[in-house]
Amino acid sequence: MLIGGQWTSAGATVFDSINPATGERNYRIAGAGPEHVELAVAAAREAQARPAWRDMLPHRRAALLMRIADGMEASADRLADAQRLENGKVVAECRSQVASAAATFRYYAAVCETLGEEITPSRGAYLSMSIHEPHGVVAAITPWNSPLTMEAQKVAPALAAGNAVILKPSEVTPSPALELGRIALEAGLAPGLLNVLPGFGAEVGGPLVAHPGVDMVSFTGGTASGRRIAEVAARKLMSVALELGGKSPHIVFADADLDAAADAIIGGIFEGSGQSCVAGSRLFVQRSIRDAFVGRIVERARALRVDLPDAPGAQMGPIASFGHRERIEAMVDGARGRGVEVLCGAERPADARLAAGAFYRPTVLAPADGGDPIVREEIFGPVLCALAFDDEADLVAQANDSVYGLAAGIWTRDFGRAWRIARALAAGTVWINTYKQLSISTPFGGFKDSGLGREKGIGGLRLYQQGKSIYVATR
Ligand code: NAD
Repeated sequence: MLIGGQWTSAGATVFDSINPATGERNYRIAGAGPEHVELAVAAAREAQARPAWRDMLPHRRAALLMRIADGMEASADRLADAQRLENGKVVAECRSQVASAAATFRYYAAVCETLGEEITPSRGAYLSMSIHEPHGVVAAITPWNSPLTMEAQKVAPALAAGNAVILKPSEVTPSPALELGRIALEAGLAPGLLNVLPGFGAEVGGPLVAHPGVDMVSFTGGTASGRRIAEVAARKLMSVALELGGKSPHIVFADADLDAAADAIIGGIFEGSGQSCVAGSRLFVQRSIRDAFVGRIVERARALRVDLPDAPGAQMGPIASFGHRERIEAMVDGARGRGVEVLCGAERPADARLAAGAFYRPTVLAPADGGDPIVREEIFGPVLCALAFDDEADLVAQANDSVYGLAAGIWTRDFGRAWRIARALAAGTVWINTYKQLSISTPFGGFKDSGLGREKGIGGLRLYQQGKSIYVATR
């Protein structure tokens, strides 16, 4: 773990980092506990209060973030491997996520250097302004599905905003965060400004959130964990940003470009083995084309190449952990037991080369309606539920019938209709005739149980600051 610029494993509970493609151990990892939280909070508070950091001019802070981006690019292969070996994403996706993480540091360097404060309209003989200051110490807690990008998305703006950060990566994927800690130190970030505490939610995450020396928590993960964190934050009256689960509707009208829609639906649910918060896991197809279009999706799903993540041409790697595969299997088997029709998948691949890994075939299910738990609960795996709708009103009612509201996709050539539906859906992001486009310059977050607050964009820097108003008499 990285505390106050020092690498240490003293007092750690050692746990294994496992390669889900092979079942083999990658490394033994030092897991932090409450005593390490104490040390990291003390180091972060001390580092954040240093004038060299507090008073650092924005263009200098920006230059530091640029150097971290350079360091990430120089370590691109190592970072991509660190993620692939722990969550099993295919090589191409890991590489593109390294590029995206480095771009995130560059984006927040640019925001940091150029974002001004505001002079507000004066109502008297004074100059009034609204300026922004860091919260202090930010705890960033991340999941295992895309650690490279999620960690950059929190650490870059939190540092740009002038905070110190304690990063608690998922116990499934501790290594990318440790690599980021190394790169930041090598780039010249002062010790203590980025601390990395690998370990488990109960042993590190909980104590970190509850610690009085932590001023803000930025969390990405499951809704149940997010709710627990919000309860603790309420007692402390501390700011929280929560990016949580989803069960996103992907909608196809009969007039759509069906080839493009089919590509997006396959990518939207099976890329990353469905372990994406914005996975388009509920497919709604207009009834007149439902059977033909779903048949096409099933054909495409069957043809996907499930393989070792570093095999050339692999389209889908394993599930990120054996425990998570068991959860997915239990959910799908439960649905089958309740009479939900299996159109394809719902099994492990037959290929003997993959037998030691946590692989699972792309699965398409046809529930009778939206009432079954398989349509209501987040699976976070390569499982698509195909449903039908009659008209716009029926579609909007079905699509919004979820506790989640993270994202949605609409395929139609009728722009007026796309616009009406985009406005009617309860979702933080809506894609029209595209899916899973994500940009660091555009805010991201959820409605309803999918979260609180918006990351990314210029507001993604403000998320890590608090406002201060200053009045100066002019006579
Ligand atoms: P998780 O909630 O189990 O764990 C996320 C992180 O929180 C891990 O680092 C974990 O150790 C820690 N943690 C768990 N309980 C905690 C607690 N009580 N206090 C503090 N920390 C705690 O989620 P996961 O299984 O790692 O990730 C999958 C979930 O993440 C899915 O629900 C998925 O939708 C969600 N997710 C959301 C987004 C988004 O941007 N909205 C992105 C990716 C993943």
